[in-house]
Amino acid sequence: MSSYRLTEEQQALRQAARRFAQEVLSPRAMQVEREGSDFPSDILQQMAALGFLGLDIPQAYGGQGFDTLTSAVLLEEISGAWFSAASYAMTLATGPILAAGTEEQKRRYLPALCRGELVTAFALTEPTGGSDAASIQTFARRDGSDYVIDGTKFFITNGHRADVLVVFARTRKDAPRGQGISIFLVEKGTPGFSVGQRFRTMGHTANPIWELRFEGCRVPAANLVGDEGRGFGYLQRDFAKIRAVYGSRCVGVAQWAMDYALRYARERTAFGQPVASFQGVRFRVADILTKIEAARQLSYRAAVIADESLPEAPAAASMAKHFAADVCLEATAEAIQLMGGHGYTVDHPLERMFREVKLFQIGDGTSEALRILISRFANQAIANGKSAQLG
Ligand SMILES: Cc1cc2nc3c(=O)[nH]c(=O)nc-3n(C[C@H](O)[C@H](O)[C@H](O)COP(=O)(O)OP(=O)(O)OC[C@H]3O[C@@H](n4cnc5c(N)ncnc54)[C@H](O)[C@@H]3O)c2cc1C
Repeated sequence: MSSYRLTEEQQALRQAARRFAQEVLSPRAMQVEREGSDFPSDILQQMAALGFLGLDIPQAYGGQGFDTLTSAVLLEEISGAWFSAASYAMTLATGPILAAGTEEQKRRYLPALCRGELVTAFALTEPTGGSDAASIQTFARRDGSDYVIDGTKFFITNGHRADVLVVFARTRKDAPRGQGISIFLVEKGTPGFSVGQRFRTMGHTANPIWELRFEGCRVPAANLVGDEGRGFGYLQRDFAKIRAVYGSRCVGVAQWAMDYALRYARERTAFGQPVASFQGVRFRVADILTKIEAARQLSYRAAVIADESLPEAPAAASMAKHFAADVCLEATAEAIQLMGGHGYTVDHPLERMFREVKLFQIGDGTSEALRILISRFANQAIANGKSAQLG
């Protein structure tokens, strides 16, 4: 299987992404995340020029048209230096447009996004909760040739600057659970749409999260994505891809943190020898590196399974994301420990990474929600007289 030997193209992409990550992203991440400003447009332009945006978007719409494994390899490198940057390269927001959007919707948004000229936001979570997404209350009422949207969204990344928002709203109040939810494209400046409070977060300040309000927000029916009531259906395959890749993004951060700390521990001496040479240190490092590699392989495998649209794709991706998120949290804590007091200072990037990685167990599906998906897959497999293993 390809995850055991990456192609020459995938290896070349990894090298190019690593160079960009080291030379451009890493220093800017330190500066921008510290001052709390938005993710810089000039970096988006550079990513566009290097072909690091629209990874999963077909070339016909200006993207790279990569398979999910190739995207995962590239995003591993980008994320290591700056997790926020990878969020622009492959986003949940474009999934429904690709899956069910009209030709006009695709042409209006996708090429501009791939050129780094357009920012999207994905607006699903509401004040009443994110895990139980089927219970959203935002409602879109048909009125002649328009829909009128009313409701509130919480925690929407880049909601304040997005040129177009992918908004989930109920279109039938009496529909069975999970059905009757539709997707609408709402452009910045649409009357009835406004940005509310900013939520102050532990990290990822370059991609801030916002409250969004829809009060009699009128959009033409042409802004509906796909069929009314089938919104969640358009997300499923994409969730598997995004979560598989999320696993790789966690792996990238974990590896980056350990590499950083190991370089330090080779130079730093205690009791007359390099810190890295103590057996107590070496065994712990070996354990963490083993876990990172396990998370890497799981994520690559989930990426391949997602592209093959196998029934176990959601479970595979869930395993990858929740395992890699835990490994990443452990790895960044271990990396700081390896550097002692210096690891805890803001002179090094590890304290920022430590604050950022907690999100990985929460965003794009909490670790609990992912375990529910895995156990659902296992129950089904056993009920069908099969093994609960992948593939
Ligand atoms: C930095 C950041 C960026 C975000 N960006 C976006 C975005 O761009 N768009 C968007 O739509 N949302 C976004 N979110 C929201 C995110 O997706 C939600 O926070 C997440 O889905 C969890 O929802 P919640 O916060 O409402 O927690 P809740 O759903 O209230 O859950 C609280 C806790 O209960 C657990 N729990 C819930 N149900 C169960 C169960 N059945 N069994 C066991 N445990 C359970 C959860 O796992 C969690 O630990 C973002 C959040 C953050 C922090």
